[in-house]
Amino acid sequence: MAKITLDNLAHSYMPNPGSEDDYALKELNHDWVDGEAYALLGSSGCGKSTLLNIISGLLHPSQGRILFDGKDVTQTTTTQRNIAQVFQFPVVYDTMTVRQNLAFPLKNRGEDPKYIAERVQQIGQMIGMEATLDRKCRGLTADAKQKISLGRGMVREDVNALLFDEPLTVIDPHMKWELRTQLKKLHHDFGHTMIYVTHDQTEALTFADKVVVMYDGRVVQIGTPEELFETPAHTFVGYFIGSPGMNVLPAQVDGTTAHVEGQAVPLGAGYAVSGKKVEIGVRPEFCTLTRDEGLPVKINRIEDVGRHKIVRARFEGHDVNIIAEEGQEVSADMTRVTFDPAHVNVYADDWRVAPHGARKGEAA
Ligand code: ADP
Ligand code: MG
Repeated sequence: MAKITLDNLAHSYMPNPGSEDDYALKELNHDWVDGEAYALLGSSGCGKSTLLNIISGLLHPSQGRILFDGKDVTQTTTTQRNIAQVFQFPVVYDTMTVRQNLAFPLKNRGEDPKYIAERVQQIGQMIGMEATLDRKCRGLTADAKQKISLGRGMVREDVNALLFDEPLTVIDPHMKWELRTQLKKLHHDFGHTMIYVTHDQTEALTFADKVVVMYDGRVVQIGTPEELFETPAHTFVGYFIGSPGMNVLPAQVDGTTAHVEGQAVPLGAGYAVSGKKVEIGVRPEFCTLTRDEGLPVKINRIEDVGRHKIVRARFEGHDVNIIAEEGQEVSADMTRVTFDPAHVNVYADDWRVAPHGARKGEAA
């Protein structure tokens, strides 16, 4: 296993990139801590596979270096880096049996046959295929073949890192949950560094210790699920994570008060803000419907989603979503909304502004 360092890394698929727009992956510096489980989360086309393939060595970056435990591996291959990677679509040998496919990476490394037999049995069980180990792969469903690909990715215990690129795309929903649980267990048991690419926030938040959120070729935040929820570093993180996502409203901010369309909104701390575009962001969980306090809203719709209600409202042409917990009153004469000041974040040009007297660990 290894600590993976990305040093000044960037990638363009163009031969002579000019502006930043030409880069599929914008400049990035980051240490992937040895033994952690990461999710790489973002919408389609934001650069997740590009970054993963650079880490595995399938792609060589146009700028910067990759270090494993401090050693420069930028020009080495995936095999030399000792990395296992699982892709979105199955890669299996049709003429071999399930067992032979699973054994392949171990045989390649000249492992002891007794160990191979045991390990393959164990992995066969993890992917729910112990009963079909002796079937040829030809003719198996895409779903089954993808499970074999996953198994082959997990079979070696001595890899530096395990990389997964949206591996559950072709797997049916029930089995998805089962396999994700197995991956978590694998991480727990062996402590490999794992990077799991997905565009699904639930998958990312349940799998990972740390979530790396990407937007338009850029890593916009690396944090625990809690940090992404409490203090989204970029408005994209606010929108993308949460259901519904964070409310973002244009504002003028002056000290401890924001003004939104002329209405005062108290903030939990003081801010000095500069930027062309200033906004406040507050998650629906921290909005409360009232009768006589806060911003006047027009309620469009109330959705009952079991444990809580989602109130879809509008304020001066802006959407404001409110989550009312079970037991919280919601009625037609409640046409105002207040925000919990401690949970109002301030953004300048989409990036979060840290308050004055920043809490420990936050940039001032
Ligand atoms: P994701 O995995 O998040 O969907 P990708 O890393 O595959 O995103 O792609 C990031 C960007 O790079 C996209 O705009 C995509 O069109 C572009 N891209 C990906 N692969 C290539 C390639 N081989 N040649 C040129 N452009 C590419
Ligand atoms: Mg991809």
